[in-house]
Amino acid sequence: MPLLEGKTALIFGVANDRSLAWAIAQALAREGARIVIAYQERMERLVRRLATEIPDTLLVRCDVQDDQQLDAVFAEVAAVFDGGLDILIHSVAFAPKQELENRFWQTTREGFQTTMDISAYSLVAMARRALPLMQARGGGSILTSTYMASERVISEYKVMAIAKSALECSVRYLAGELGEYNIRVNAVSPGPVNTLAARGVSGFIDFLDDFNKKAPLHRIVEQSQVGDAALFLCSPLANAITGEILHVDSGYNIMDTFA
Ligand code: NAD
Repeated sequence: MPLLEGKTALIFGVANDRSLAWAIAQALAREGARIVIAYQERMERLVRRLATEIPDTLLVRCDVQDDQQLDAVFAEVAAVFDGGLDILIHSVAFAPKQELENRFWQTTREGFQTTMDISAYSLVAMARRALPLMQARGGGSILTSTYMASERVISEYKVMAIAKSALECSVRYLAGELGEYNIRVNAVSPGPVNTLAARGVSGFIDFLDDFNKKAPLHRIVEQSQVGDAALFLCSPLANAITGEILHVDSGYNIMDTFA
């Protein structure tokens, strides 16, 4: 029997066919999950076209900074899926361009708040709405996507690195509190993958070369490998795992990257 037969997964963060969220959607669908994609309005045309590749995908529009739109997404999922939700994927991040171009010490209050709101708080905003739906199913799994710049200085990531630290800490606090409802909360921490969000970081292509040289497996991470790791964490195979940050990075994080 497929691992996720009869399960429903709500996925935030599909922008195009390179998005990590799209690879995750494909992996979950492959194992029998019914997919709901919550997309940002400006991505609508591409997402509608992509979604035809996974039969029966439900599409809902949502800007994660808008509480009413978030309420509407979870209300629609509840209405369509008999009040229940099994899997929530948060694969959303944004920092204003200027904050990634300037030095970190020049970060503005507004840029800091926007980055934290979209890239970190949105996980909490989603989790609080998912809770009653997952309780209705006797439990669930929540997964987000972080990056190693939260753990050490990777100078190009600036305010986004700070948001990733808050995101990882949110994973631990949510896992700590939601465990009693049989809800697991985890993150994947992928190595660099060439996506829309990643290309917003200056020097990204050079970083791919460096990564390839230093990672123990000497392989660039593929989207589908992130999808498979996400599938594992959301499936019953990971039933004893919560509050975990799983590196999916060909081993790069264990190396002395200054060598
Ligand atoms: P992506 O550009 O395909 O995905 C980012 C998504 O965030 C897009 O779908 C975009 O629509 C969404 N988004 C941004 N602001 C939003 C808002 N206000 N409301 C709703 N949605 C909004 O890029 P990606 O690389 O797939 O990024 C997905 C996640 O993976 C991000 O959290 C990113 O930091 C993380 N990540 C990416 C890499 C990488 O190298 N690509 C590595 C580690 C972690």
